[in-house]
Amino acid sequence: TSAQAVVTRFAPSPTGYLHIGGARTALFNWLYARGRGGKFLLRIEDTDRARSTPEATEALLKGLDWLGLDHDGEVISQFERAPRHAEVAHELLSKGAAYKCFSSQEEIEAFREAAREAGTSTLFRSPWRDADPATHPDAPYVIRLRTPEDGETVIEDEVQGTVRIRNDQLDDMILLRSDGTPVYMLAVVVDDHDMGVTHVIRGDDHLNNAARQMGIYTAMGWPLPVYAHIPLIHGPDGKKLSKRHGALGVDEYQKLGYPAAGMRNYLARLGWSHGDDEFFTDAQAKEWFDLSGIGKSPARLDFKKLEN
Ligand code: GLU
Repeated sequence: TSAQAVVTRFAPSPTGYLHIGGARTALFNWLYARGRGGKFLLRIEDTDRARSTPEATEALLKGLDWLGLDHDGEVISQFERAPRHAEVAHELLSKGAAYKCFSSQEEIEAFREAAREAGTSTLFRSPWRDADPATHPDAPYVIRLRTPEDGETVIEDEVQGTVRIRNDQLDDMILLRSDGTPVYMLAVVVDDHDMGVTHVIRGDDHLNNAARQMGIYTAMGWPLPVYAHIPLIHGPDGKKLSKRHGALGVDEYQKLGYPAAGMRNYLARLGWSHGDDEFFTDAQAKEWFDLSGIGKSPARLDFKKLEN
């Protein structure tokens, strides 16, 4: 039996330019796939219609192109796949792994208020979870995932190690809103599954999402991807990289004349190491890149703050 072909992806939200952190995530996914004869896919997570812009998508594509991070197949738009996401929510419903919840926003607030006063958990527990469908009103509803009440969700992460989250700390998350639109968490899982993604390599700000996303994989009976959550990048001052540090957009480096190959080399070293090797060819990077070389502590961006 041959090992399963590697499929990775970069899944940016088109809300701005391609920043250093995103470029590094893309590079890691690209290197991992390219070094293993695998595929590297690109998905634009444009479900947030208010914040997504075509200009941002354009900027992301341009940035990746400049960096030489070519992807396989078509660029996938997450928004266009909304009907498929809704289909999966209804499949979960018919399997009994999800349920219709008719609680209004006011009722949920009242529940939380009462829980705060009683000093009990404010995680919303829907009264509709075990309701007989015959008692369902003819009213708008959301579809919620039925999360196990006990036990724990264990994330075996290639970078973070074993991460355990108690299931009673997860609420029955909404999969489909009352207007029939899918939530982001459902879209990611369905897309990754349908695209055949085997390795999810992304920022560790998504680690908690992984626990919730695993619940959907499990309920659908889908195989889990391998997870690798990379520590975020910090600025020279040791604080989380932000606009304040300047020079966050990859295009800024491009305009200043930094070479793309140098940028790739630098970004590859941002949180990943291969012994003492700091300077390498693309062929070496593809051959050497592995998940075990990713450090557990935040990488530090040591570029000088660029003037304008
Ligand atoms: N769209 C998400 C972001 O830009 C990434 C989601 C993921 O990689 O699963 O942060």
